[in-house]
Amino acid sequence: MSNNCIFCKIVAGEIPARLVYQDQHLVVIEDINPQAPYHYLLVPRKHIRTTLDLTTADNDLIGHVFQTAGKIAHEMGFAEDGFRIVNNCNEAGGQTVWHIHFHLLGGRDLTWPPG
Ligand code: IMP
Repeated sequence: MSNNCIFCKIVAGEIPARLVYQDQHLVVIEDINPQAPYHYLLVPRKHIRTTLDLTTADNDLIGHVFQTAGKIAHEMGFAEDGFRIVNNCNEAGGQTVWHIHFHLLGGRDLTWPPG
């Protein structure tokens, strides 16, 4: 756990969040500022600052993130229509929380390119 990391505090249950799913590797919460009818954050329990800090030891974790995102999309009923998994990295990439996380967005037609 990293001091003053909001997602570490959510993972630890120290600050509230709307929990969608959890297991030993991940918590999945509703985004507090949703950008689509379904907008979830897949947050690894392990504090990893950005995508650039991943190592080969995290390969299984990242695979698990993507598989879990697909399962949630199925369970919530928007998988077949389509969805998007997003990871923002560093300032110009749009990252605002410095604990790696993956946005799962669905429930509307998503435009491309993103802003
Ligand atoms: P980023 O900009 O890719 O780093 O995404 C951070 C996301 O975390 C944003 O979409 C925020 O709306 C979301 N967020 C920030 N604080 C909270 C919280 O306390 N609960 C749920 N989502 C949060």
